[in-house]
Amino acid sequence: MNVRGNLMPELNIIVQKYGGTSVGTPDRIKAVAERIKTYTAGGHSVVVVVSAMGKTTDELIALAAQITKKPSSRELDMLLSTGEQVSISLLAMALHEIGIDAISYTGSQIKMITDGNFSKAKIESIETDRIMKSLTEKRVVIVAGFQGIDTEENITTLGRGGSDTSAVALAAVLGTRDCEIYTDVNGVFTADPRIISSTSKLKEISYDEMLELARLGAAVLHSRSVEFAKKYNIRLHVRSSFNYEEGTIVMPKEEMMEKFVISGVTAKRDEAKITIWDIPDQPGIAARLFSIMGQNKLYVNMIVQSTGKDNKASISFTVLKSDLDKAMGLCEDLNNELGGTAVEAKKDIAIVSAVGVGMLSSYGVAGRIFKVFSDRKINIEMISTSEIGISCVIDEKHADLALKVLHKEFIEAEQQ
Ligand code: ADP
Ligand code: ASP
Ligand code: MG
Repeated sequence: MNVRGNLMPELNIIVQKYGGTSVGTPDRIKAVAERIKTYTAGGHSVVVVVSAMGKTTDELIALAAQITKKPSSRELDMLLSTGEQVSISLLAMALHEIGIDAISYTGSQIKMITDGNFSKAKIESIETDRIMKSLTEKRVVIVAGFQGIDTEENITTLGRGGSDTSAVALAAVLGTRDCEIYTDVNGVFTADPRIISSTSKLKEISYDEMLELARLGAAVLHSRSVEFAKKYNIRLHVRSSFNYEEGTIVMPKEEMMEKFVISGVTAKRDEAKITIWDIPDQPGIAARLFSIMGQNKLYVNMIVQSTGKDNKASISFTVLKSDLDKAMGLCEDLNNELGGTAVEAKKDIAIVSAVGVGMLSSYGVAGRIFKVFSDRKINIEMISTSEIGISCVIDEKHADLALKVLHKEFIEAEQQ
């Protein structure tokens, strides 16, 4: 992405993003307009990114499913992008009603150029001329989140939750350091507050921890938005659109006041596990398997290979549940060719993870995690670690319990 530094510091630009619940009803949209007014009155030029109203995107997906089981990915993106077009225009009208000049733009109108991967497109560039012109004319600029166009002008979408990424990308190209993400919770919590009632809000969290949490299932931010924020040094302020409380600041770890061993726990439930049993234990087999997955654009997350015995080994790995049928077909072909015993799929798994920069300087965290799981008879099927995270694949039915016990052991206990 072409980022040229702060384009016009005198404009005092702030980028704000409002999620689906925050613009879920006409009254909510009016409330957002009132909040924006406080910023324009305070001397800010405001660029607003909005998501589709409420559950609109889910409803559009369900609508397509009534027509076909296999919608064309181009047409699905065309359909899903309509949700955001509704909310941008309504918000512009709400601002006009309270005397604020505002103009809405679709992704294509501001040339939000992406690659051509429908439903998971990546932003490549954004033209700032039109936005800057509107801002200098003292208009609030409202941009449709989640959507862009490829170089052939097909409408693309950035993946579920992608409006966060639209907002951070805009902050980057406009050269502003501040991006506020307004949502339906008061900030980033130590666990999803909908699952764990004793969770607490974090005042701050590092980019690396937030990235890890987002990748591992914490839906509060789209993981790519955190990647952009880190790369372009944008301070994300995640906060509620329902009150004026301070939320959570996502920032470089060097600037953080407090570093916890574990800052948060999260679960990812959209992956499935595949095991290929008893294939030859020799160089090149894993390379072959995962090249096939890559060539077929299948995202592979955790991988475990058993120690070989009698020249045979087994490999387990996880793929998105939505890719399971395709991945199984490819694995079965390879298994037949290699003379393996069987290929097995398990759908009802969850990846439960604990994340914290304090792990870098602590010992025994993995052992403590395994102990709390074994005390509750939660069987661990796969394990993977990074510098600041430990993830375990377990049976999906134990996911909430696993989150609760991890939260209790590492977060509640340390707060006392
Ligand atoms: P929006 O529509 O505003 O983008 P999302 O539904 O995408 O909202 O994200 C907010 C939701 O993320 C919250 O309602 C909450 O249930 C969920 N969530 C998951 N993990 C966390 C966490 N660690 N902290 C805060 N919220 C979380
Ligand atoms: N409307 C899109 C979705 O529901 C994008 C977003 O909300 O960020 O995934
Ligand atoms: Mg979201």
